[in-house]
Amino acid sequence: MDSKLNTALGLYIHIPFCHTKCTYCDFNTYSGIENLINDFSNSIYNEIEFWKINENYFIDSIFIGGGTPSYIDPEIIKNILIKIKKNFEISKDTEVTLEINPEDVTLEKANYWKEIGINRCSLGIQSLQDEELILINRRHNGEKALFSFEILKKVFNNISIDLIYGLPKQTKESYLNTLENIINKKPDHISCYSLQVEKGTVLNQQVVSSQISVANDDLSAEMYEITYRLLKDNGFANYEISNWSKNNKKSLHNLKYWTMKPYIGIGPGSHSYIKNKRFSISKPPKKYIDFFLNKTKNICTLDEKIEYLKENKILDVFEIQTQENEILEYLMLSLRLKNGIDTDHFKNKYKSDFEDLYLKKIKDYIKNDILIKKNTHYLLTEKGKLFANEVANNFVK
Ligand code: SF4
Repeated sequence: MDSKLNTALGLYIHIPFCHTKCTYCDFNTYSGIENLINDFSNSIYNEIEFWKINENYFIDSIFIGGGTPSYIDPEIIKNILIKIKKNFEISKDTEVTLEINPEDVTLEKANYWKEIGINRCSLGIQSLQDEELILINRRHNGEKALFSFEILKKVFNNISIDLIYGLPKQTKESYLNTLENIINKKPDHISCYSLQVEKGTVLNQQVVSSQISVANDDLSAEMYEITYRLLKDNGFANYEISNWSKNNKKSLHNLKYWTMKPYIGIGPGSHSYIKNKRFSISKPPKKYIDFFLNKTKNICTLDEKIEYLKENKILDVFEIQTQENEILEYLMLSLRLKNGIDTDHFKNKYKSDFEDLYLKKIKDYIKNDILIKKNTHYLLTEKGKLFANEVANNFVK
C-alpha cells in the first residue's frame, strides 16, 4: 500500500432486503421487493465506483449490513467485494463483517462467504426462546440459532452474536437462560441491546393497543445488570455499553462510529461521516436505484462528490458538523466507551477545559455515583451506564 494513503476509512454497505420484517425493526429494510434485487445490485456496484477516492484514504474496515445480506445471492456479496477492491486501496488486515441471520446459514454458504473475503460474522440471534422469537416475527428458533453458530464456528474465527433484552414475554430467567447458553458456545463478541419501541413499527402498534407489553425501565435495568455481571464473570470486556469482546476481538468497524473516525455508507439510507460532513443517502430503494443505476459520473474529489449528491437531491440529510454538535456527540459516544471522556483529548480538540466547563455537573455526578474519575479520564459507573444519554445531553444543556 502507498504510504501516502494515510487516513483509515470504514465502508458500510447497506442491503435493504429482508425475508420478513421483525416487529420491532425500524431500519431501512423491506420484505416483498425481491424483484428489485437485480437492479439494486447493479446500482450498488455503480455507487462503489462513484466513491473511488483519489485522496489520501485507505480502507481498513468493511461492514456489509442491512437488512439481511445473508438473504441475498452470495455472488452479489462477492461482486461487491470485488468492486471495492478495484476502486479503493485496502489494508491487508481489513476487517470484513457480514451480518447473517441464522435461517440463512449452511456450511456451503459459510465456506463461500469465507472464500470471497468475509472474515467476521455478526449473527442476529436476539433470543434462544422460541416463544419470544415468534412474537417478534423472527424466522429462526433457538435450536436453529445454535446450530447455525456451530456451522459458522467451523469456518470463521471471529463471530459476534446479537441479543436483545426487554422483549415481550421475556423474563429475567428466560433472558438468563439465553445468555448462559450463548456464553457456553464461546463467541468472540456479544452485543446486547435493550429493546426500543420505535414509532412506525408493528411493535409500537401492539404496545399502544395493549396487545403486547415490553419490559419496563426497572426490568430492563435489571437485565442490563445481569448482562454486565455474567459477561464480566465469563471473561468478556465491556468496551462499549452494549458490546462485549473476548481476546480483544472488538468490532473495529463500529469503533469508528463510536470514536468519530471517517466512514462512507453505501446503499439506500446509509450514513457517512467524512471531512466534518454528515450525510445520508435517500432511503427508498426505488429512488436509490433510479439514481445510481444511470446517473453516476466520474467526479474527482470527495467534496465534489458530496456536492453532486446534494445537487441531485439524493441526500436525506446533509450537515456540516458544528463544534457544539461535535462536543455533544463526543460526550455521548465516549461516555459509552470503556475509556470514557479523555480530558486531554478534549482540550486538544476543542481548545477548552472539560473540568472548567462542567465543574458543577461533574461534582454532582460523582456525588451521585454516576461518574468516576480515573487519571485524566471520566467514566460512567455501573449505575451511570443506565443513564449514558441523559448524562451527555445534560452536559451540553
Ligand atoms: S432481520 Fe434485521 S433488518 Fe431485517 S427486519 Fe429483522 S431486525 Fe430488521
